[in-house]
Amino acid sequence: YTQAKALVFSKYGEPSDVLNLHTHSISPSIPSSSVLLRSLAAPINPADINTVQGTYGSKPPFTSLIGTAEPSVTPGNEGVFEVLSTGGSGSDLNKGDWVIPAVAQFGTWRTHAVADADKLIKVNKENLTPIQVATVSVNPCTAYRILRSYGPSAGIKAGMGMRPLEVGSGEWFIQNGANSGVGRAAIQLGRLWGLRSINVVRERDTPEATDALRRELQDLGADVVVTESEFLSRGWRDQLAEITRQGRDKIGLGLNCVGGKSATAVARSLGDDATMVTYGGMAKQPVSLPVGLLIFKDIRFVGFWLSRWNEKDATGRRHMIEDILGLIRAGKFRDVPVEEVKWDWETEEAALRNAVQEGLSGFRKGKGVFVF
Ligand code: NDP
Repeated sequence: YTQAKALVFSKYGEPSDVLNLHTHSISPSIPSSSVLLRSLAAPINPADINTVQGTYGSKPPFTSLIGTAEPSVTPGNEGVFEVLSTGGSGSDLNKGDWVIPAVAQFGTWRTHAVADADKLIKVNKENLTPIQVATVSVNPCTAYRILRSYGPSAGIKAGMGMRPLEVGSGEWFIQNGANSGVGRAAIQLGRLWGLRSINVVRERDTPEATDALRRELQDLGADVVVTESEFLSRGWRDQLAEITRQGRDKIGLGLNCVGGKSATAVARSLGDDATMVTYGGMAKQPVSLPVGLLIFKDIRFVGFWLSRWNEKDATGRRHMIEDILGLIRAGKFRDVPVEEVKWDWETEEAALRNAVQEGLSGFRKGKGVFVF
């Protein structure tokens, strides 16, 4: 028997209130199509916390599969596992392989798992770290999909609704939350694909710290980095005119993961026929839009949810993941800054709970990642 631990919740609430660490044992006899997995790394993403809070767009079923007293859910959408053993010849996986979940809401916040091979994607682990693989499938894929699918403007005029990105066009996009995992990925992919970016970040507590963040994003390929207060100030209009050569360069795409005033300011920065894609709501404020942007500029406001795209195009997703891992291996794509949260057999429940709770607080040095 393999001794295992999992974070679980049996009712929705704040992670520090409702998460429990559950110990269970896994029988050595598993179905031939299944594999026994050991966790290597699993990030704490905003969506995971929203899942615990009960505010996320999909709600995983509460089950008694791992023997919790009350039916429970193991959160965690993303992570990388090592195959410890296989149930038989029912799968192509072998001991030592690295795998990531092929399905949403896999439940990665646990030391071990038994899973059907068809719920897993095998990853070529060559020259990659567990953290790089554990964080590839949500943030970089979100940026990848949005930039590829909603690439700057035009097209609409040709009645296409939207057109794919034009590689090397030098067109601009603008985004808030630019230092998030998704934002950093968008900067890098945009640069690789010939797009230019305007990036909005919140001020840090000292000017030096703000400058350091600015440089960090410029190092990734950001063309322009502005603070939220510059962005929301009256002076922004002039600054923008300068960046876009008095409007001769169009900003065709806006990425919004914040909402509220910041989202409105992103919308106001866009050119005619642009698209604004909302994919997150970190400020928990609604998006409000001046009517003129809809009427006179015909700006399209759309939402994006990766889970839905993944369901629609599982094969495309695999190619995308391979593509990004290839960029990482080639040194062309850098991973996000992380705060490692060590999880071994002795780690206390409170430490794990708190790490999750902190995941939604702002101004962090890096994304929390459980490392086993
Ligand atoms: P990270 O955990 O990497 O970063 C969080 C970001 O949110 C930071 O930029 C942080 O800025 C910012 N932030 C935190 N609190 C606030 C606040 N109150 N107001 C404004 N900004 C805030 O995030 P991810 O990249 O993993 O996710 C970013 C967003 O994208 C989330 O909303 C997430 O749910 C969403 N997302 C959506 C997907 C989809 O399919 N729709 C897929 C992936 C992510 P600071 O450093 O200044 O605190």
